[in-house]
Amino acid sequence: AALVTVLFHLGEMATATQSLDEATFEVLGAELGYKIQVVSPEDEERELLDSFDIDLEAELEAEGDADLEKRPAVVTVMGHVDHGKTRLLDAIRHSNVVEGEHGGITQHIGAYQIGFDHDGRQRRITFIDTPGHEAFTAMRARGAKVTDIAILVVAADDGVMPQTVEALNHAQAAGVPIVVAVNKIDKEGANPDKIRGQLTEYGLVPEEYGGDTMFVDVSARQNLNIDDLLSAVLLTADAALDLRANPNKDARGIAIEANLDKGRGAVATVLVQSGTLKVGDTIVAGIAHGRVRAMFDENGDQVEAAAPSRPVQVLGLSTVPRAGDTFLVTDDERTARQIAEKREAADRNAALAKRRKRISLEDFDKAVAEGKVDTLNLILKGDVSGAVEALEDSLLKIDVGEDVQLRVIHRGVGAITQNDVNLATVDNAIIIGFNVKPAERVAELADREGVDMRFYSVIYAAIDDIELALKGMLKPEY
Ligand code: GDP
Repeated sequence: AALVTVLFHLGEMATATQSLDEATFEVLGAELGYKIQVVSPEDEERELLDSFDIDLEAELEAEGDADLEKRPAVVTVMGHVDHGKTRLLDAIRHSNVVEGEHGGITQHIGAYQIGFDHDGRQRRITFIDTPGHEAFTAMRARGAKVTDIAILVVAADDGVMPQTVEALNHAQAAGVPIVVAVNKIDKEGANPDKIRGQLTEYGLVPEEYGGDTMFVDVSARQNLNIDDLLSAVLLTADAALDLRANPNKDARGIAIEANLDKGRGAVATVLVQSGTLKVGDTIVAGIAHGRVRAMFDENGDQVEAAAPSRPVQVLGLSTVPRAGDTFLVTDDERTARQIAEKREAADRNAALAKRRKRISLEDFDKAVAEGKVDTLNLILKGDVSGAVEALEDSLLKIDVGEDVQLRVIHRGVGAITQNDVNLATVDNAIIIGFNVKPAERVAELADREGVDMRFYSVIYAAIDDIELALKGMLKPEY
């Protein structure tokens, strides 16, 4: 209460639970005779590494032009469900994967690199092969930038759909150039021109219409024009991006996916972003640390060293890092362990703070009254599509009044996934599970991120809860 009084005298109206901006905090501190510093997660991370004499920014600044070498583009494939993302990733991989000693039998490690001849030059492209928004949102939620270029897949027999728009919004928000793959042109009723027209409305103007976005008509099923698509990716990279990194230093990069293997322990796929990762290096990735015992590529072949833009599976970590966690090489194992431990402690504190901050159904009306939100974002998951549709229909029929909105930002059939939680984190949404539950790891993630999940087995119970939350939340009239 004393703080509120001081704020009042500073000309700020505040309530006891409101969060304040940085500048207000600093003035407030001065007024009370304290020096208050607002610390962002990035600052915290910088300080942590600084205390171990690791200064990544100074290292970047010290790099001259001569140290930088061209590196392959890293590409994510995005688009609406069923428009052919998976099929396209398969077609690309089979068209050009450098055959390994196991006869080209590829493994899913979360990313792969292809090599091919283009205009007389040997070129490479790295693909993140978790299709859809998963890879993108998970990483964006932790502020990691992995993707250089996004391929937006749109089925020519269907058209621009909600997830198409969502995908292009994600890419544009991240400042990532887009190449459009107009897929399924083998199908009857395919209308690639319609897609071009539709996407123009979203700012993606085809080159042939005078814009600067490359559109390529493909068929993932018939392996049609895959080479043209790869060319378009290269041309876009060459024209819009200067992709270079210094390979001659200790590696740094991002964890793309990871799992616990019964026999091999923690197995993490990492993407090297700069430097070269070698077997025997000591690394710390998020809260995982250890010595790189072995590395494998997408063919399952052992590799000794991985240069920038190269994805590799790494063995030897103490635990499983999260998608989007950064990794770096340290001088010794002790440093790696200490950094990991400090991060783990910081994570625990941050989780507590977040849980207090994130939206929950109970305090939604309060958040509205404080003017913090005016939309209740929901993610619906159910065991059968009929139930999800019925739930959505009933929800959208709720009379929410004039000042607030209810939005279903994502719906789907099946268990609540990590992607659902990541979406909820990015869009501050509440997850409704109808006869479905999350896997243990997903529940942990939701808990850590403070995402409110609600489970129901009767539609009316869900509707009742949301109605109550909404009813209480109408803004007070003045
Ligand atoms: P995703 O959900 O975007 O990953 O879509 P999928 O790759 O799973 O493809 C959805 C369906 O469309 C599958 O049945 C594919 O076989 C089919 N499909 C994908 N690409 C093509 C294509 O180029 N032509 C035709 N005819 N079917 C395709």
